Amino acid sequence: MFNPATGAVTGRVAYATAAETEAAIAAAADAFPGWSRTPPHVRARVLFRFRDLVEQHADRLAEIITAEHGKVRDDARGEVTRGLEVVEFACGIPHLLKGEFSENVGRKVDAVTFRQPLGVVAGISPFNFPAMVPMWMFPVAIACGNTFVLKPSEKDPTLSVELAKLLKEAGLPDGVFNVVHGDKTAVDVLLTDPRVEAVSFVGSTPIAQYVHTTAAANGKRVQALGGAKNHLVVMPDADLDQAVSALMGAAYGSAGERCMAISVAVPVGAETAERLRERLIKALAELKVGPGLNPGVEMGPLVTGAHRDKVAGYLDTGVAEGADLVVDGRTAEIPDSGDGFFLGGSLFDHVTPAMRIYREEIFGPVLSIVRADSFAEALTLVNEHEFGNGTAIFTRDGNTARTYLAEVKAGMVGINVPIPVPMAFHSFGGWKRSLFGDHHVHGPEGVRFYTRNKTATTRWPGDHRISTDFAMPTHV
Ligand code: NAD
Repeated sequence: MFNPATGAVTGRVAYATAAETEAAIAAAADAFPGWSRTPPHVRARVLFRFRDLVEQHADRLAEIITAEHGKVRDDARGEVTRGLEVVEFACGIPHLLKGEFSENVGRKVDAVTFRQPLGVVAGISPFNFPAMVPMWMFPVAIACGNTFVLKPSEKDPTLSVELAKLLKEAGLPDGVFNVVHGDKTAVDVLLTDPRVEAVSFVGSTPIAQYVHTTAAANGKRVQALGGAKNHLVVMPDADLDQAVSALMGAAYGSAGERCMAISVAVPVGAETAERLRERLIKALAELKVGPGLNPGVEMGPLVTGAHRDKVAGYLDTGVAEGADLVVDGRTAEIPDSGDGFFLGGSLFDHVTPAMRIYREEIFGPVLSIVRADSFAEALTLVNEHEFGNGTAIFTRDGNTARTYLAEVKAGMVGINVPIPVPMAFHSFGGWKRSLFGDHHVHGPEGVRFYTRNKTATTRWPGDHRISTDFAMPTHV
C-alpha cells in the first residue's frame, strides 16, 4: 500500500488464502439463521446506530481514504456521505420489505407475496470508492437479512476494516459482516463456493464480465458493474460558464478516477467547440493539483505509480493517433508533489471515434473533445460507444433535453447536471458493457437483488369443502 501523495509505502496487505476465504463464508453461513430471523425493525436499529457512528467518525474515515487513495479531503468526505445515504435508505427496511396481500383470490382463499433474504452474499469492490461502493452493497444486503462477505480493493483496504469495527460497535452480531482482503484467489472462492448465493461486483469491465460469467455458471445471482466512457454534450445554446465549471469538476475531480467521470466533451457546432476549448484551457491553467490534505487543492495524485504511468502513456498514444494534445498534464507545476503519483489535468481536441484514447477507459485526468456537427451526430456518437454508464447534456432547450433523455443509451442521464449519480433511494447502474446482470445497485433494485419472492395461497378448514379436482385450479 502507498500514500499516493508521497509515494511512500505505508503498509502491506496480507492476501487471504482460499481456506481463509472459506472460513469467512462459513462464519457468514453460521450467522445467517439468527440474523435472518431477527425482525427487520430490529436489524434496522443496528443500522441507525451505525449511521450515527459513521457520521461521528466521518472526518477520520475521509483522512484514511485520502491517505490510501489520494483524492482530496472534501471529495473523500463526500463519498462517505453518499455511502451514508444508502445506510439511511436501508434503515427503512421494514417498510421496503412489506409484502402484498389479496383477499379472496378464490372462495375463502387468500394470497400473500413477500420477500426473503438469500443467505450469504458477497461484495467485491474497486479502489476508487473504498467507502461508497461497499456501502452501496452491504447496508441493503444485511438490512434484508443476508450475511455478507466483502472483498475490498487491495489498493486501499483499511476503510473496510474501519467500517467493520463500526458495525460491531453498532451491535451487529459476529459473522453478519466479514472482510476478506486479497486478489483473484479470494474472489474465485466467492464466485464458486456453493454457500454464496449472490455476488455484487464493481470494477473494470473485463473483470466484471469474468465475475458475471463465472458466478452465473455457478448458479449465483450476479450484478457486475464495469467501466465507463461518459460523454457530456454541449449544445450551442448551453450556458457555457456552467458547462465549463461542470466539466472541470466532472473530468478532473478525483483525478478522473470515477466511473461517472466525464472523459469526453462533445460540443455541437464549430463555434461551440472553439469557445469551449478556449475556456477549458483557461480553467486548466488554474486547476490546483497537490496532496489531498493540503488546503485549497482540487485534484490529488493518481492511486499508484503504475496507474499514473499508464495514464501518461495514453497521452503519447493520443498524439501518435493524431489527436491534438492541447494541455499536457505532464508539464504541470505541482507544489509539494515530491515522489507522489501526480499528473496534471490534460486536454485533447480533435479526437475521433477510431482512436484508442476515445474507445478505451483511461481512468485518469484526461478530457477528450470530440466535435459533432449536429445534435443527431452527438447522440449517435454516445449511443455507438461500447460503454453506457452515465452521460449528460447541457442545453437550455427542453425539447432537445427530452429527446436526449428518451433516446440515449446509457443508464444514468444528467440534464445540465454533469455527474448524475442517483440518490440512494433510486438505483445506480449503467447499460451496455458498463453492467452485466439485471439489477442496478441500492434503492429498490438493491432490495430486489438481495431478496427473493415467496407467494403463498392459503385456505383454512371451515364450512367450505375441498373436493378432489384433477383440472388446473382456477379458484372461481
Ligand atoms: P479492478 O477491476 O481492477 O478491480 C476490482 C476488484 O476486482 C478488486 O477488488 C480487485 O481485487 C478484483 N480483481 C482484480 N483483478 C481480478 C481478477 N483477475 N480476478 C478476480 N478479481 C479481480 O478495478 P479497479 O481498478 O479497482 O477500479 C477501477 C474500475 O472500476 C474502473 O474501470 C471503473 O470504471 C470501475 N468502476 C465502475 C463503477 C460502476 O459503478 N460502474 C464504479 C466504480 C468503479
